[in-house]
Amino acid sequence: MKYIGAHVSISGGVFNAPLNAKAIGANAFAMFTKNQRQWTSKPFDKETIDLFKKNLELVDIKPQMVLPHDSYLINIGSPEVEKREKSLEAFIDEIQRCYELGLDKLNFHPGSHLKMISEYECLDLIATNMNIAISKTKDVILVIENTAGQGSNLGYKFEHLAYLIDKIEDKSRVGVCLDTCHTFTAGYDLRTKEAFEKTFLEFDKIVGFKYLKGMHINDSKPDLGSKVDRHESLGLGKLGLELFRMIMNNSRFDDIPLILETIDESKWADEIKLLKSFEKN
Ligand SMILES: [Zn+2]
Ligand SMILES: [Zn+2]
Repeated sequence: MKYIGAHVSISGGVFNAPLNAKAIGANAFAMFTKNQRQWTSKPFDKETIDLFKKNLELVDIKPQMVLPHDSYLINIGSPEVEKREKSLEAFIDEIQRCYELGLDKLNFHPGSHLKMISEYECLDLIATNMNIAISKTKDVILVIENTAGQGSNLGYKFEHLAYLIDKIEDKSRVGVCLDTCHTFTAGYDLRTKEAFEKTFLEFDKIVGFKYLKGMHINDSKPDLGSKVDRHESLGLGKLGLELFRMIMNNSRFDDIPLILETIDESKWADEIKLLKSFEKN
């Protein structure tokens, strides 16, 4: 079965996210567990946690179909010791918050080398910090998102994802999320049946579908290989609708959250309907 949603608001409290998802006809969603522009936030109180769980049940969305996203400030691969340590601390706190809400995943961007160290030195720092974070927390799967490769962001090659997974001691705690816009602008074509099959065959060979724990469903403003991260509404970008039709009709994308991060949230309900309509064809 396909589970489709969007990255919804937590304005007023995390417990509003399930209701916001329901309002657009979603059976999955992404959210932040705190203000993503701040390093710290106050711990959840029992009422918040209980209400979140109650609302999730109320809207009949499974905890496994929630894909929380960490703060954009975090860079656990930072070449600067102080920033790296601050990031690790915040990262562990985010994992803990997911655990408290009864959620089993945390989606994060691997990190950036800031042109101060090599790509693989940075990936080693990320892997080390992922292992530390795993050892200090329970159950939550760290879901590495592939990136467009903008600036010095790592994770734009399937090999980067595989390199990190290989270094994680507890493989049950690691997964990946593929963003269709990032995949495309990183240089992997997805627009035709042939390109789609070639890209996902490569993904399966290098990373493995068993690690795929979620997808970000976005059209792309920039072109193939541009290394620029700009999302677009479905059908209005360089990817076109055929890709989304193929995803909806491929069982490899069953039973994981498929999350819209498209730019016009007033279209999310229609985009979910559109994706569902593809499934029948
Ligand atoms: Zn994304
Ligand atoms: Zn993006």
